[in-house]
Order: sequence, then C-alpha cells, then structure tokens
Amino acid sequence: MNVVKGVAEMKALSRSLKRDGKTIAFVPTMGALHEGHLTLMAEGKKRADVLVASVFVNPTQFGPGEDYKKYTRDTEGDLDKMSQTGVDIAFFPGPEEIYPPGFQTYVEVTELEKPLCGASRPGHFRGVATVVLKLFNIVRPDVAFFGRKDYQQLQVIKRMVRDLDLDVEIVGMPIVREASGLAMSSRNAYLSEEQRTRAVALSKALGEIKRKFDGGERKASVLLESGKRILSDSSAGEIDYLEIRNGDTLEEVMLASPGDVAALAVKVGRARLIDNIEL
Ligand code: AMP
Repeated sequence: MNVVKGVAEMKALSRSLKRDGKTIAFVPTMGALHEGHLTLMAEGKKRADVLVASVFVNPTQFGPGEDYKKYTRDTEGDLDKMSQTGVDIAFFPGPEEIYPPGFQTYVEVTELEKPLCGASRPGHFRGVATVVLKLFNIVRPDVAFFGRKDYQQLQVIKRMVRDLDLDVEIVGMPIVREASGLAMSSRNAYLSEEQRTRAVALSKALGEIKRKFDGGERKASVLLESGKRILSDSSAGEIDYLEIRNGDTLEEVMLASPGDVAALAVKVGRARLIDNIEL
C-alpha cells in the first residue's frame, strides 16, 4: 500500500494512473475506521483497477463547540485496516494543504443541506460538499463510495455531482450495524457501556416505524409517534430530530410512501448519533 500525504503527490499519481488507462475507486473517510468504512473499501476494490481511500478529519464540517479536536484519530490502526482491505493508495492530507491560507471558495447544495442534520449543524454540508469536491479533483475517481448511514450526505453529494457535471459515479452502500442493531460509527467510541445499551433504541425505533409502515400505516405522525415512544421509554437521550422525508428531495411528508426515509439524530451522552431506515 502506498501512503500519500501530499496533495501534489496524490494529483501526480492519479494523473499517471489515468494516463495508463486505469480506473480509480475512491472512499473518503474521517478515519477511526470500522466495518462500515471497510465494506465501502471492499466494494471499491471490486469496482476499479486501483482503490484510493482517504482519511481527513475535515475542520469545515464541524461547527463551533463540536468534536473536531476530540474526534478519534488512529492513524496506525487505520493504516493496518486499509492495507488488510486491499487499499492501494492511502491518502492522508493535512488540513493546511486542503485549506491553505486565503482559502475562501465553498460549495453549497442550497435546499438539500437545510433540513435534518443541516438544521442543527449550520454549515456542516457546505463543509462536506466542499471537501468532497476538492478530494474528487485531487483523486479523480471514476467511482466513489458513500454509506447510506449518512443518508442526507449521500443525497447532497449526488446532487452536487449532477449539478456540477462531475464525471464520477456515486454508489450508496447499505448501513453496517452491530449485532445489537446499533449502526456502526466512529462516534460510538464516545459511548460508555450503559450508553451503548441505551443507543440500541435508535435502530429499534426506526425498525418499529418500518414495521408499522409495512403493516399498512401511512400517517407520518402516527409512525413517528411509535418511534418516539421507544426512544423515550428507553431514555435513549435527547432527540435532535426524528422525521420522515422524501428519499430524494428530503421534503417533509404527511403520508409516507415507499422510497421515503425515516431519519433521526439523538444525543446519547456526548455522542450525537444518526441513523435512518428506508421505507
Ligand atoms: P466518516 O468517516 O464518518 O466520514 O464516514 C466515511 C464514510 O463511511 C461515509 O460515506 C459514511 O456514510 C460511511 N459509513 C460510516 N458508518 C457507516 C456504516 N455503519 N455503514 C455504512 N457506511 C458507513
């Protein structure tokens, strides 16, 4: 595995791969890698000649008072996992290279970034879209992999790719969960054992919404109430949102239909956890 830190070096590598007619698969991450990240990489390995995965804790997607400084960093562990998963190029750029002095250009996906996580994390998706576009320009992938766990992020990226005519295929990958149902996340490391047990209610609440939907219930308010009850009965934590929205536009729906998504964010201890289920 080739470990690359410099932006210029990564650009030169992708340029020469393209010249040789190689296809490039790309998985951008913020590190502290777990099975969720690794399934994206394993799929990427199958889909192109060369697999590039990046680790970059992107400062512009964290708001003031969020966990940018405390976000888990585990370079050694990440490198181990990446090489075991068949990553060909591990790209670890530094913040000063991605955001050099004078940096002032941002990408905004104006409507999709507003609801759900965008409402409680203003500027978050602007930071995400900007860094992903930059990474695409540096790595020049043919295909890039994102988890459906970050459902809104996936929609934002897909929209950006369409709107800006980017020449990259975006693949959304299924949510990888622990045996308990808890969606894997780098932020699960913040949870105590007791909080981890309580956090199982998040996937339970979503599972109950889906069960009721599959049973024929369509009223969003009724579906959401059943989910909220599970969250409050298990004292999961402070609910940031629990909503049902159109799966493509993320517009709110009163009556749920197939293709909609039920999504939530809940603060469990100091971890703000997100999860969703597609109806
Ligand atoms: P992150 O390091 O949290 O920025 O995530 C990097 C990529 O991995 C994103 O596309 C995430 O959606 C994806 N990802 C994170 N957790 C999971 C999971 N449990 N299942 C599937 N994909 C995931």
